Amino acid sequence: MSNSKYTETKLIHGGISIDERTGAVNVPIYQTSTYKQDGLGKMRGYEYSRTGNPTREALEALIAELEGGVAGFAFGSGMAAITAVLSLLHSGDRVLISSNVYGGTFRVLDKVFDHFNINYTIADTTHPDVYETQITDDVKAVVIESPANPLMSVTDIKAIAEVSHKHGLLVIVDNTFMTPYLQKPLELGADIVVHSATKYLGGHSDVVSGLAVVNSKELAEKIAFIQNSTGGVLGPFDSFLLIRGIKTLAVRMDRHVENAEKAAEFLTAHKAVKNVYYPGLKSDSGYETNRRQAKNGGAMISFELHENYDIRKFFESLELISLAESLGGVESLVCHPATMTHASIPADIRKKVGITDGLIRLSVGIENINDILADLEQAINAAEIK
Ligand SMILES: *Cc1c(COP(=O)(O)O)cnc(C)c1O
Repeated sequence: MSNSKYTETKLIHGGISIDERTGAVNVPIYQTSTYKQDGLGKMRGYEYSRTGNPTREALEALIAELEGGVAGFAFGSGMAAITAVLSLLHSGDRVLISSNVYGGTFRVLDKVFDHFNINYTIADTTHPDVYETQITDDVKAVVIESPANPLMSVTDIKAIAEVSHKHGLLVIVDNTFMTPYLQKPLELGADIVVHSATKYLGGHSDVVSGLAVVNSKELAEKIAFIQNSTGGVLGPFDSFLLIRGIKTLAVRMDRHVENAEKAAEFLTAHKAVKNVYYPGLKSDSGYETNRRQAKNGGAMISFELHENYDIRKFFESLELISLAESLGGVESLVCHPATMTHASIPADIRKKVGITDGLIRLSVGIENINDILADLEQAINAAEIK
């Protein structure tokens, strides 16, 4: 535990940040599957690494402290974290999901949890009054993302949590895009926060991992049981990489956001650009709500080019910015949601929620902004159909 009230300090000193035995300023990588017992029933706090591992435990304590929760849990991917949390549901239960929810979250509900008679409804979490009408008797939980990918639509987390709790729902927020440095969903009323730590928390595009944080002892016991029973835990080395990544989150995020704000302004002013979706822009419909619940608009931008630009050509012409899945690493990445991150969502649903074939998603990295803007400029110019 760090005693500081400041997130920047907690990122570095939070959780278990020192090795008591040796004084090492970093938590060692306990690369072990099992632990010697001193006698029958006499364990030294650990018995088997699926159940508990000191490196993973340090990461779990750190994320719990950062999100202001009771306990944290580390998994082998964001989807493993989300799957563990959804495993709280029972046959016959229904979960509401924001319309722009991550494609993998949609897929696991649509194609896996449906085997167990756990159902979902796509809900309009951007309008609390409309949302409330979608809560039927079988609804037991809601999954929110804000801003939600790829249109960066903003949900008023506090308002949705209040409506949801009136009906006894469990409120789950995927905080991947914001991180606890920019937004703390538990303080806004959420019960559980999940992360794809693969993204900003890891920050270097070198580890796939997921985290969950809960706001009560009761939920902590349930998730610990599910984590140990289903076994999708994060390994010691990857836990170490995440702890290391998290230490620099504040400085990375500050630069990500500074660059994103400039990139959003550049795109907004560009004659080739039809729409820009970024909650950090005053003109964005989610700006006011986002400002109330988050420090700023984050560093994910989506935009559409006018019809006289060939997006294939745009992607092929980029030199610095890579076309790749994922986001939140130090390097700038672009993707095409319709055929990449959101391809698992059927075309008719994609169309209904506004994920057009012309949509481009940009994860703004921490390179010099002049290089990012120059690359966007030359690729847009190359894409013009003359
Ligand atoms: C990437 C992502 C996930 C899935 O995480 P993995 O680590 O890829 O399993 C979940 N939610 C959001 C918002 C994501 O961006």
